[in-house]
Amino acid sequence: MSGANGHVNAMTVDVEDYFHVSALAETISRKDWASMEYRAEQSTARLLEMFAQRDIKATFFVLGWVTQRSPQLIRRIHDAGHEIACHGLTHELVYRQTPEVFRTETRDSKAMLEDAIGAPVIGYRAASYSITAQSLWALDILCDLGFEYDSSIFPIAHDRYGIPGASTRPGRIRAPGGREIVEFPLSTKKLLGMRVPVAGGGYFRLMPYWFTRWALNSVNRDDDLPFVFYLHPWEIDPGQPRVRASLLSRFRHYNNLDVCEQRLRALIGDFRFSTMRNLLRPHLQAA
Ligand SMILES: [Zn+2]
Repeated sequence: MSGANGHVNAMTVDVEDYFHVSALAETISRKDWASMEYRAEQSTARLLEMFAQRDIKATFFVLGWVTQRSPQLIRRIHDAGHEIACHGLTHELVYRQTPEVFRTETRDSKAMLEDAIGAPVIGYRAASYSITAQSLWALDILCDLGFEYDSSIFPIAHDRYGIPGASTRPGRIRAPGGREIVEFPLSTKKLLGMRVPVAGGGYFRLMPYWFTRWALNSVNRDDDLPFVFYLHPWEIDPGQPRVRASLLSRFRHYNNLDVCEQRLRALIGDFRFSTMRNLLRPHLQAA
């Protein structure tokens, strides 16, 4: 076990199915969701087994659509000692929503989760990390709705998300309206002068495992930071139905699905993990 510098890292899962993904939204519309083959329950159950074997507690950011479809799954995650957090209602990108719609959807999805588990939900992650420079107003709404932390900001430049130059360190940030919220930015590494994502999803599948392990060790050791790893249940489901989409979207979605589970098993053997809520406790208490 590396645990470089003694760091414990955040293990996070965005609980949604393959047909919710932004990269495939160009071909699957929201009204098709109900008729798609639903596989998230099964793959989430497999993640729960893997985490149980290593005694890892993780944060599950759950999409409202999944909460409605499988409230018993949400209770099962919660009962296993993991943290339940909010991934919005419809997986619409925040900067494509009006503040009014964002407020209603986020409030409703938080309430659904709290009904399902009978406990407060304090963490939020936007669909496709879509809190960007144009949608920072969302942080004020998260404060209004009683969220204590957010993990939606990617401090990089990317076509769909990112705030280049944003802090890479978890801590309190100021929302435009003046209040503070704790932010746990997605982990990145500076390579050849460019800040690149290293801690999950498509990047985890794209790069060989030795690269991820090196980069994450370096975040712990050289940057002296805990990293946040993120994954979706569909990323360990190579049997999912194939969906027609652009070449780039297909590559982003389907690349290396078959090796992902095995890599994840290696990762959770090599590093120490806990929930976001646990890791952020010192910042949350400063409130
Ligand atoms: Zn998502």
